[in-house]
Amino acid sequence: MNPDDEFAQWISLLREDEAFDAEVDRLGTEAIAELRRVYAEDGLLFGDDLRRRLLALRFAHAEHALRLVLSDFPATVDWAVTPTVSMNALVYARGPGVIVHGWEVLGIGFQDTLIEIAANIQADYIDEFFHVWPSCSSHRLGLKPDMRNGVGVWMCGSGPHVVARIGKIEDGRLRKR
Ligand SMILES: [Zn+2]
Repeated sequence: MNPDDEFAQWISLLREDEAFDAEVDRLGTEAIAELRRVYAEDGLLFGDDLRRRLLALRFAHAEHALRLVLSDFPATVDWAVTPTVSMNALVYARGPGVIVHGWEVLGIGFQDTLIEIAANIQADYIDEFFHVWPSCSSHRLGLKPDMRNGVGVWMCGSGPHVVARIGKIEDGRLRKR
């Protein structure tokens, strides 16, 4: 079987594999590219082997993504519990998972993970400090993480328009126009 066919067959078999926790029909191009890399390096992984590989990938992505997301919040913010990435032994009895500040990370592509973590950290920030962050300096609206052209960005609902890439809000402050 040629590698492309074998890859396609593997992806379709992942539908039946409980170790694979993403929806096969909703995988984005970035997630597919990650899975191609996994396939190229390790071949056809299933079950616990697949789960271990996905968690390692997710953990590395989450650490990088969390650093970027936190850089968009005020440097002096005094979290009750500092957001970190950890490996939790049992997540809803499904087996180990990657946890960021109490949230399980589910993305496979890096940008998906970045958006996921940005949304969760932002929700926690609002709960803990009672104001929305980051916000659009032109419209005084809270920004929402979203994907534009395959990249995680902070969007203002007015327009709507892109304010900055996630991780590019300088010193936790939006640049003045
Ligand atoms: Zn705006």
